Amino acid sequence: MAAIRNVVILTGAGVSAESGVATFRGPGGLWEGQRVEDVCTPQALARDPALVHRFYDERRAKLASVAPNPAHLALARLDAEWPGELLLVTQNVDDLHERGGSMRLIHMHGELKSALCAGCGHREAWEESLPPGCECTVCGAPLLRPDIVFFGEMPYRMEAIERALAEADLFVSIGTSGAVYPAAGFVQTARYHGADTLEMNLDPSQGSGWFAESRLGPAGVLVPEWVEEMLA
Ligand code: NAD
Ligand code: ZN
Repeated sequence: MAAIRNVVILTGAGVSAESGVATFRGPGGLWEGQRVEDVCTPQALARDPALVHRFYDERRAKLASVAPNPAHLALARLDAEWPGELLLVTQNVDDLHERGGSMRLIHMHGELKSALCAGCGHREAWEESLPPGCECTVCGAPLLRPDIVFFGEMPYRMEAIERALAEADLFVSIGTSGAVYPAAGFVQTARYHGADTLEMNLDPSQGSGWFAESRLGPAGVLVPEWVEEMLA
């Protein structure tokens, strides 16, 4: 690991599973009892805004009863102590990485604790429930929606992420199924630019074959072990 300076880490729902936050494709392929296409698409929001808003209200409320696990804490320690460049890109919309202490963090798929104005694009911190019809504090339109990147919408900060991937010496993917693009393609971008690649997941992801090394097991165990190695 001596030659490694720039590190990019991608996390998915698996990193929060041990905190008690359900993953995307739980029992029966459902996310908390809902079909993904009923709560994760612009069409669903247009068809049944009450259902979609309520779904994310429930996810947001749940954050009060969960806490960062050893994987979140270890990643925050790496962020604090790593002397080189480091970027943590999460697909998660929970706030467990920041509550764990991570600073260099991008929420590429949005955040539960944020509201997005569908009129002007303004984003604002949001802690409470968000019923349809709330007014934007900037443009006044009653168009605030959950600040979640739905299927078919552009993830946040892609330029910064692509730049970090191009400069990475090591790309690490943790707790993600490798099914959702563009995140699932980050490993290929990093490899193309010469990075070493490591995956940590409970079971092999769809993109496992792209990684130089795969470690199988719970993130709460594997990630602290890996961070110890990196800082040794
Ligand atoms: P996913 O649910 O598709 O995949 C999760 C992966 O984590 C699976 O491969 C699973 O085997 C693995 N996993 C489960 N428990 C684990 C553990 N303890 N340790 C290590 N790995 C474990 O999730 P995804 O790939 O992140 O894609 C999901 C999409 O759903 C994202 O876009 C995200 O925005 C959204 N989502 C977010 C949350 C959250 O914020 N916590 C939760 C569910 C879904
Ligand atoms: Zn607005």
